[in-house]
Amino acid sequence: MPYPITLKKKSIPFDEHVILDFPIGRLPSGTSIEVAVHVFQAKEPGPVLLVIAGMHGDEINSIEIVRRGLTSGLFTDLQRGAVIVVPLLNVFGFINFSRDVPDGKDVNRSFPGSAKGSLAARVAHLVTKELLPMADVVIDLHTGGSSRYNYPQIRYSMRSDVARELAGIFGASFMVHKPLIAKSLRKSASDLGKVAIVFEGGESERYDPFSIHEGLAGLRRVLFHTGLSTQEEKLREVVNIQHTSWVRAQAAGLFLWAHASGDKVEKGQLLGNIHDPQGRAEFKVISPRAGHIIGHNNAAVVSIGDALFHLGWS
Ligand SMILES: [Zn+2]
Repeated sequence: MPYPITLKKKSIPFDEHVILDFPIGRLPSGTSIEVAVHVFQAKEPGPVLLVIAGMHGDEINSIEIVRRGLTSGLFTDLQRGAVIVVPLLNVFGFINFSRDVPDGKDVNRSFPGSAKGSLAARVAHLVTKELLPMADVVIDLHTGGSSRYNYPQIRYSMRSDVARELAGIFGASFMVHKPLIAKSLRKSASDLGKVAIVFEGGESERYDPFSIHEGLAGLRRVLFHTGLSTQEEKLREVVNIQHTSWVRAQAAGLFLWAHASGDKVEKGQLLGNIHDPQGRAEFKVISPRAGHIIGHNNAAVVSIGDALFHLGWS
């Protein structure tokens, strides 16, 4: 890794908090849009960590985790290495309360991106061209979708020993093996020889104080146990999940859960009920296997086939 870090053709000074704005486009109104990138760099060379929030513009917990990290001094006084922080990558999605950019494309399915491609590809290109070459390790922060709650968890590929180790250090309640998805940041980072893990916590458009706390604690653990920071956070036990599957609604109606994310369940256990709103019928939702609930659906009204509980097991 070149050290010190060079961004926008400038060498980043040591022991200073630098904020760089990368122009990414304009709104139809003519307003220019920039992505802010914070850089913290110690004199002593060491691993360079890239932390990205808000790749999906409505995933507010990720943005709040990074904001609190920045304002609480989580990344200052580094002992070695550097941290590059993107507090809000998808400014367009954020403005529109949307996961995607205005044309409906998903930035995390547009990597490595291109300078003259769709808007999502241009946002991805900024990361691939400017930021990824400077980083050793990427932590990409996300939440579940609308009404889909994710219990705090790290997603990693078990094909990478370093990713597995980092997932364990981060110390979210679950570490979940997920193969690399084509055109995702994780895949692009891996193609460039970098290590990337994804944090998931809570659901979109909604604060989840527990997930925000877990995300901050995880970042603190990674910074401390890689020797970047002296702010201590102890390691802890993590449940390693290698397989996942959704329990789906076998009937439509009003969904009331008896178990929620984080719970350990046995095969045959009652997970919830779906009620016919006219009071004629009730359907039990039964766990098809033993495992942990790593995510659940908060929707009150469900259709047949809807994903209700995300079960994980090792
Ligand atoms: Zn996301």
